[in-house]
Amino acid sequence: MKYISTRGEAPALNFEDVVLTGLASDGGLYLPETLPNFSKEEISSWAGLRYEELAFKVISPFVDGEISDDDLKAIIEKSYASFRHTAIAPLVQTDHNEWVLELFQGPTLAFKDFALQFLGNIFDHILKKRDQKVVVMGATSGDTGSAAIEGCRHCDNIDIFILHPHQRVSDVQRKQMTSVLADNVHNIALEGNFDDCQNMVKESFRDQSFLPDGRQLVAVNSINWARIMAQVVYYFYASLALGGPHRKISFSVPTGNFGDIFAGFLAKKMGLPIDQLIVATNANDILHRCISANDHSKKELLHSLSPSMDIMVSSNFERLLFDAYGSDGAAIAQLMEDFKSGSMVLSDDAFKNVTENFDSYRLDDDAMVKIIADVFDKTEYLLDPHTAIGVEAARQVRKNHDVPMVCLATAHPAKFDEAIAKAGLQHPQLPHHMSDLFEREERYQVLNDDIATVQKFIKENIR
Ligand SMILES: *Cc1c(COP(=O)(O)O)cnc(C)c1O
Repeated sequence: MKYISTRGEAPALNFEDVVLTGLASDGGLYLPETLPNFSKEEISSWAGLRYEELAFKVISPFVDGEISDDDLKAIIEKSYASFRHTAIAPLVQTDHNEWVLELFQGPTLAFKDFALQFLGNIFDHILKKRDQKVVVMGATSGDTGSAAIEGCRHCDNIDIFILHPHQRVSDVQRKQMTSVLADNVHNIALEGNFDDCQNMVKESFRDQSFLPDGRQLVAVNSINWARIMAQVVYYFYASLALGGPHRKISFSVPTGNFGDIFAGFLAKKMGLPIDQLIVATNANDILHRCISANDHSKKELLHSLSPSMDIMVSSNFERLLFDAYGSDGAAIAQLMEDFKSGSMVLSDDAFKNVTENFDSYRLDDDAMVKIIADVFDKTEYLLDPHTAIGVEAARQVRKNHDVPMVCLATAHPAKFDEAIAKAGLQHPQLPHHMSDLFEREERYQVLNDDIATVQKFIKENIR
């Protein structure tokens, strides 16, 4: 299988190289040239498979033999072995014909473990095979950092450096990252905000001459194709559990960088019967404005109680646009150039294409807190703030009440206690395996927002 860039200029890559590449050289994102397509008969033959077995069916066409079937199966088994629930992605009913898909059973309590546990093991496999060492560098506003560290801590061929904004992530989020004391794991608390962290990472990817000879940077954010690919699986899993593919299922997805919901769109294109795909946003609503009114313009970034969705430039949206523009890389390059000035307008055809596939809704903090309280009142089920936005979006824009609605639960409520307290509810307990989190020793380095300082630190700590 060949992977091509959304901007049409960069060379096509095979699976292993695409995993080790961040942005394409033309600034675009990689996508498979063609998608596998599964018939209803084939999908229904997967009913009852364990999550790991299903993951192999969905993922193997993308890997296309570059990793042997036995190795790929072993990688998948290992990736989900650390999950606390044997169903990996259990469904919980929250109302008539409405479910949440609990994607927070992994080691760091957010859905990012689905992709990053897998990515760490894929990296390990490819790097060992090639006898190659790489440096992972990433910026985090909270969830990605801990999931990436958990995914890479056991990889001998990786040194991982995660930048977070000093004193601007929650205590739980910081502890989850900084209490991993492995030799190859380095946390940098940058004296700056998340954008400063991200800019420093971007700049370092652009010019990697500070690294020792033979080393390269590798990306763990959701521009990495393998992350999206791993997330396609749970759409199939939820559908099969609720009677698919013989009936349609709808999904509501709390959205930031558009990675998670894009995986749902791919599942649909691969043959899974999906009725609605709902993009749920917080007050940072650029995607909602784009989908509802073709208004894709930047506004000031607001800090919300659902911080993992506080994003203005949603990188994976470019992957959807590539599809909506009929794989016209030049058109995407032009559109992204327009967006640099602050806004872009989709062509009539592309806008129609997007609105045919997606519905959207926006919720601010006050409305979100009410939903947490309301759902708890009626079911004693506690939603995290991101998930709550998805649940209310589903209730607001749902079209067919006979179609099961699945809301993706992206984090465990204990991770975001501020919103829970605002809802007037008691702070939920951390799961058992993490109950000693606040007693664990921490290690991190506070550094100035200065690229030479950060790069020097990285160079000195590469093993
Ligand atoms: C990352 C994250 C999101 C947003 O996911 P995207 O793939 O960026 O759209 C939503 N909720 C939580 C808890 C997250 O960590």
